[in-house]
Amino acid sequence: MLPNFSYIQPRTVKEAVDALTDDAVVCAGGSDLLGCMREGIITPARMVSLEALDQLKGITKTPEGGLTIGAMTTISDIAQNPLVNSMYPGLAQGARQVASPQLRNQGTIGGNLCQKPRCWYYRGEFDCLRKGGKLCYARHGQHQFHAIFGHDNLCYITHPSDTAPPLVSLNARVLVKGPEKNRTIPVAQLHVLPSFTPLAETVLKPEEIITQVVLPPVSENLKSSYRKVRARRAWDFALAGAALALEMDGDMVLDARVVLSGAAPIPWRSSAVEKTIIGSQLNRQTIAAAAAAVTKNAEPLEKNTYKTYLFQGIIEEELAKITSRDQE
Ligand SMILES: Cc1cc2nc3c(=O)[nH]c(=O)nc-3n(C[C@H](O)[C@H](O)[C@H](O)COP(=O)(O)OP(=O)(O)OC[C@H]3O[C@@H](n4cnc5c(N)ncnc54)[C@H](O)[C@@H]3O)c2cc1C
Ligand code: SF4
Repeated sequence: MLPNFSYIQPRTVKEAVDALTDDAVVCAGGSDLLGCMREGIITPARMVSLEALDQLKGITKTPEGGLTIGAMTTISDIAQNPLVNSMYPGLAQGARQVASPQLRNQGTIGGNLCQKPRCWYYRGEFDCLRKGGKLCYARHGQHQFHAIFGHDNLCYITHPSDTAPPLVSLNARVLVKGPEKNRTIPVAQLHVLPSFTPLAETVLKPEEIITQVVLPPVSENLKSSYRKVRARRAWDFALAGAALALEMDGDMVLDARVVLSGAAPIPWRSSAVEKTIIGSQLNRQTIAAAAAAVTKNAEPLEKNTYKTYLFQGIIEEELAKITSRDQE
């Protein structure tokens, strides 16, 4: 059952920020928030809905030639938008693989980036480390779907969003409004590791709101993609996945950003894969070396070593697709 709370629907971003005092929480589509409230993970005194803020909805071109996506734009709108599909196919592919059609119609990009993790102990009645307790129950319990990188032997959640890894690979940033000053944060620096704090998922302060996601212009040579592997064909979170953004000159990789999902508490940039392919021709040898490199420094637990093979297979297949696309 939902606990009691008051509800307001501001008409301006300033009103919304001003209302975010003490025990208030931002509500976008509510598709994650209401579940968290039912589960007792978030217990706000006041809900500040962004629903009436039409200025935070929609996708437009920036003067520089990139795109800006309002934080209240739905995941469905992003998945279907012709500009997103032509300029940033990796983001469109990520959006299409979020949850189910109903959730994509309801969920927004701001909420997708800020959603809470899915660890079953955290969502259940366990007072674990991330809820302010002393123990991680997943460490010696059920951790089949948990992290193999970046857990710092503290908390083993995997970052749940399918739009964040492509956004990191595309060098996107978010615009944030707060009571004092506005700030711009690269999506690559939005999420935090357990070693920073296991009690939060982002660097946002409680009284801050993401207003826009801004994507830089892309060159014709940029190839972006997102691949997600899940346990079932219906809606499910990523067991493993990879967002690629490669600057190519023929079959030569000039630059690369490779970001893994289902891997770590944050979208996990694989510098090992990037180093292997940057400045090299994308041929069978390079691809094999990149696939071997992806799990360098991985720290799987007893029940999730299978993820290392998944990541190797994903990197091999996704890089091979780029070479075969070029030959078409
Ligand atoms: C059954 C199920 C399956 C799912 N599967 C997937 C999946 O496969 N892949 C995937 O990526 N996601 C998945 N999700 C998550 C889903 O995509 C999110 O629930 C949704 O994107 C959240 O968007 P929302 O607008 O409803 O956010 P809300 O539920 O309203 O908010 C989520 C959180 O973000 C905060 N927030 C929202 N907007 C802002 C903002 N502008 N600024 C600051 N903070 C903000 C809220 O305070 C809250 O803590 C699934 C969810 C469910 C329930
Ligand atoms: S993995 Fe994190 S969220 Fe899950 S039980 Fe451990 S501390 Fe809690």
